Amino acid sequence: MSAIATLLLKPGKERSLARRHPWVYAGAVASVTGAPGNGALVAVRASDQRFLAWAAYSPGSTIRARCWSFAEADRINADWLAARVDAAVARRRELHESTDALRLVFGEADGLPGLVVDRYGDYLVVQLQAAGVDAHRELLLDTLCRATACPNVFDRSDPALRAREGLDERGGVLRGAAPAEHVPIRELALRYRVDLRRGHKTGFYIDQRDNRRLAGELVPRLRRSLGRAPRVLNCFCYTGGFGIAAACAGAEAVVSIDSSAEALELARGNAALNGLVTQAGAVAPVRLDWRCADVFEQLRTLRAEGQRFDLIVLDPPKFATNQHQVERAARAYKDINLGALRLLEPGGALMSFSCSGAIDVALFQKIVAGAVVDAQADCYLRARLAAGADHPTLMTHPEGEYLKGLLLERA
Ligand code: SAH
Repeated sequence: MSAIATLLLKPGKERSLARRHPWVYAGAVASVTGAPGNGALVAVRASDQRFLAWAAYSPGSTIRARCWSFAEADRINADWLAARVDAAVARRRELHESTDALRLVFGEADGLPGLVVDRYGDYLVVQLQAAGVDAHRELLLDTLCRATACPNVFDRSDPALRAREGLDERGGVLRGAAPAEHVPIRELALRYRVDLRRGHKTGFYIDQRDNRRLAGELVPRLRRSLGRAPRVLNCFCYTGGFGIAAACAGAEAVVSIDSSAEALELARGNAALNGLVTQAGAVAPVRLDWRCADVFEQLRTLRAEGQRFDLIVLDPPKFATNQHQVERAARAYKDINLGALRLLEPGGALMSFSCSGAIDVALFQKIVAGAVVDAQADCYLRARLAAGADHPTLMTHPEGEYLKGLLLERA
């Protein structure tokens, strides 16, 4: 093993690794011996030479190394990497029965830092966003195709994230055929068409599967408690998910808002795909109102129109991408939650989400509580919501937990 380069840490900087946190920041490194290349295997050692971890070296990144393993006896080779992929796929086997759109590999949580793999039917959409996994891309792709029997792999890596790792811009077809313009998927009882090439993330918000299902389950519950079919407002609807789930579950009407005309066009198609639009083009029996607009403004407009809702979903984009944006993001979250609560009927439910990693659950709850106070709308916290089981959070890597939500019930 003498050929393997060594990253020696500064005194005291071994603490986070000793707690099995998988990142080594540039500022923690005292010296590098052995001139490792981008993505090369390194042994990370404490200032007293104690072994801490095997890691992939990223000379251009502030995260200077990402750990593969904390066990000195491990040999980080092709077999080891393939075993990680197989384990990740096996971990999701049960989910495969209810959906053909699921995350198969979730980076650090699956021991493959920087690798994201989402499956959509016969397509694997990958993001290779760290030097270590990029250095082993062929092996990882071969293993993925074998483990899933999926012949097609499409690369949707974020060029900005790759650049931060000193990696060139890449994308497009890596294996098999290019995806059709819209790939059909099934999520529980519902169907959607997904744009793998240009859609958000890898095409679909797979992480919200359980919460879309919950929106569907809330409809009959609200119908019983209110004595009538609920009216639903789906803010930041993207390709329709939450609203379609609610409409199919028997909502009286669904108003969906998004600023993207393209997303709304797909959303309309998805509504039709799920039988929410009759063949003649008329909408029946649920009333669907698609609004291409800014949610911040629409919440005020809907209030001026005198509209009220029994179920409201707020699933905005990431308002804070780093710590510096937290304060401004907090104001934005408060604004939309206040606007939504003002439209919510007594007994109604609000599903409010944040996918900003920089805002933790406690802070998010505080922000929403502030909106509750300002709206003078007493609410119970009925549930804390999170991403589905295919997006696991490693206890030692809390940064992986980005999606959080609150289910509130207005008193
Ligand atoms: N709930 C969706 C995902 C939402 S993603 C689902 O389950 O699939 C966030 C969406 O917010 C994107 O579609 C984006 O176009 C939209 N968006 C971003 N800023 C907006 C704004 N100010 N007003 C309305 N829509 C906005």
